[in-house]
Amino acid sequence: MEYEAVIGLEIHAQLLTESKIFCGCSTRFGAEPNENTCPVCTGMPGVLPVLNRRVVELALRTAVALQGEIPTRSVFARKNYFYPDLPKGYQISQFEAPLSVGGHVDIESDGETRRIRLTRIHLEEDAGKLVYEGTMEKADAGYVDLNRTGVPLIEIVTEPDLRSPAEAAAFLRKLRSIVRYLEVCDGNMEQGSLRCDANVSIRPAGSEGLGVKTELKNMNSFRFVERALEYEIDRQIAAVEDGEKIVQETRLWDESKNATLSMRGKEEAHDYRYFPDPDLVPVEIDSAWVEEIREGLPELPDAKERRYVEELKLPAEDARTLTATAELAEYFEKTVALFPQAKKVSNWVLTELLRELNRDNKEIDECAVTPEHLAGMLSMIEDGSISGKIGKQVFEEMYRTGKEPKGIVKEKGWVQIQDSSELTGVIEQVVTSHPDEVSKFRAGKEKVFGFLVGQVMKATRGQANPKMVNELLRKRLASDD
Ligand code: ADP
Ligand code: ZN
Ligand code: MG
Repeated sequence: MEYEAVIGLEIHAQLLTESKIFCGCSTRFGAEPNENTCPVCTGMPGVLPVLNRRVVELALRTAVALQGEIPTRSVFARKNYFYPDLPKGYQISQFEAPLSVGGHVDIESDGETRRIRLTRIHLEEDAGKLVYEGTMEKADAGYVDLNRTGVPLIEIVTEPDLRSPAEAAAFLRKLRSIVRYLEVCDGNMEQGSLRCDANVSIRPAGSEGLGVKTELKNMNSFRFVERALEYEIDRQIAAVEDGEKIVQETRLWDESKNATLSMRGKEEAHDYRYFPDPDLVPVEIDSAWVEEIREGLPELPDAKERRYVEELKLPAEDARTLTATAELAEYFEKTVALFPQAKKVSNWVLTELLRELNRDNKEIDECAVTPEHLAGMLSMIEDGSISGKIGKQVFEEMYRTGKEPKGIVKEKGWVQIQDSSELTGVIEQVVTSHPDEVSKFRAGKEKVFGFLVGQVMKATRGQANPKMVNELLRKRLASDD
């Protein structure tokens, strides 16, 4: 029998606020343990939470961008569970009345666009971090760091619309790109700013119902999500083919074992006893605020990609790469504003520039070549001051030193030779020192022409204007002497 996978994701994204969701403590990553804490986020008796307005604003920005519907009222609830990373004994989260309902993200899958529906987006606070000496199972000592407690999160829940690990990864990439465009989350998966739990089940290919799902936790990269899902789908298929029943459970991805391991089954499932938090009033969202946020949204990757294809006539593939991050797109657009030949700029950015950045593991904002420098260099190729080949050398030099192109060309003496008397002199030398080749050419061996052009280029260290060399050399060879 053929099976198909059914996948739904729950993504936690840390919002880029200066302070926590219910107190004024800093959200800065990398502080000393428990440095960013106060009586509110450490759950002391008698304290009261106060909602950070900026948190709601960033969450709304995301929800509106993802086409969610914003109910006028949302409610914070207490999700009760007892664990040392949660000093209050409950997490404040939205449950019955989330901030946003519905919405969608479009992804590319096998050359077609697939719409992945969102169930909801809600607000919640993050929990603390437990640090163990030794392993978690057999620790000599355990410590708790509450810096992360109370850091604002949005949870984005998808419908079970994804059909393969590759689609799940494509969804995450797209979502990461969008939250970074929106400047609501830095998207850093290693630091945990973006985390993903994946729910997966299998069913006979093409059927309608849903199978029993398992939930995979502990994946902090796109690659792990993809690998864990692949493993889990294979495991479920093998189990079903052996006549076993899939049990609903939570499984952990173990990177060292390259496998998912059972963490807890349904019988141990939490009963969170949710109820509305009496310390916080319901959040009422003014529709004028939503409209203001809608109007302030930046152009998002899909729209940008479409515009690059339609207005700038770029191939879809190129447009997608250029729009993957807001920073790269901005770099590209700034360069095109100065040198309005989009295809040429795109070629340089996608080949030379990205190659160097990828090699050095650098982001575009760490690139020493400014849009002004790149555009300046392209203009020099365009007006014939340098050849395309020299352009590549200039580019490398700009990348290495951060210097501007005209200065580099001058300093290195890389100006293209366009002076016909100078070129005529070089051609004369080449012709006299290669009598055999010249006779062969004159006897009809056209191929030798390329060789002779090569000799002229070599003699000028690649700086001769190739078009002029071609013309002058042909003329010279056509004459009798
Ligand atoms: P739970 O009550 O276990 O939290 P939910 O219905 O809230 O489950 O769904 C959580 C996530 O699991 C959602 O992303 C949803 O799309 C996904 N999901 C639900 N049922 C299935 C299933 N049978 N197979 C795969 N994913 C599923
Ligand atoms: Zn605090
Ligand atoms: Mg759920």
